[in-house]
Amino acid sequence: MLVRDLIHRPGEMREHSIQVVVPETFGTAVVGVEKGSKLSVKGRFESLHDGILVDAVVSGKAQAECVRCLIDVTLPVRVEFQELFAYSEDEAFDYTVIDEYIDLEPVVRDSVVLSLPFQPVCQKDCLGLCPECGVRLLDNPGHEHEAPIDARWAALAGLQDFTQDSHDQNSHDANDSPETQEEKS
Ligand SMILES: [Zn+2]
Ligand SMILES: [Zn+2]
Repeated sequence: MLVRDLIHRPGEMREHSIQVVVPETFGTAVVGVEKGSKLSVKGRFESLHDGILVDAVVSGKAQAECVRCLIDVTLPVRVEFQELFAYSEDEAFDYTVIDEYIDLEPVVRDSVVLSLPFQPVCQKDCLGLCPECGVRLLDNPGHEHEAPIDARWAALAGLQDFTQDSHDQNSHDANDSPETQEEKS
């Protein structure tokens, strides 16, 4: 954006509210502000001796997939940044004023990307999916499966009991049978 009216006029300040159309998705496929969507940048542009200080709030919407139940959700984005666009082209400065313009896009992108959650969820207490049949548990309150009655399931249940028993035995010392334990006491 053009900042000619602020350049080398320390003390001058402007309030600006601008819309940024996202040129490439900010974020990842799991959570990001999609290409073509709009972000609003609202804040103060202040002329200092060594550059232009921008103190702004970015807001908009991100698209995400809940990591627990996999539905698509829209998450609000709201992040503040404060950044100096320097007149000097010294490498010490990340951002500079170039030909009376400042490019807000990289700053907006970095702030937005850092503000996105690593593990987006549709709601804090999302219950995820049923491990047995895959239905979304929030949509099916009280969802449960009846105890398996099929013969094959019954056989599996028996096997489970067996492994449970052998595990218990293994937890004793190999030479320590219940009888020898009684002799010791
Ligand atoms: Zn969810
Ligand atoms: Zn189920």
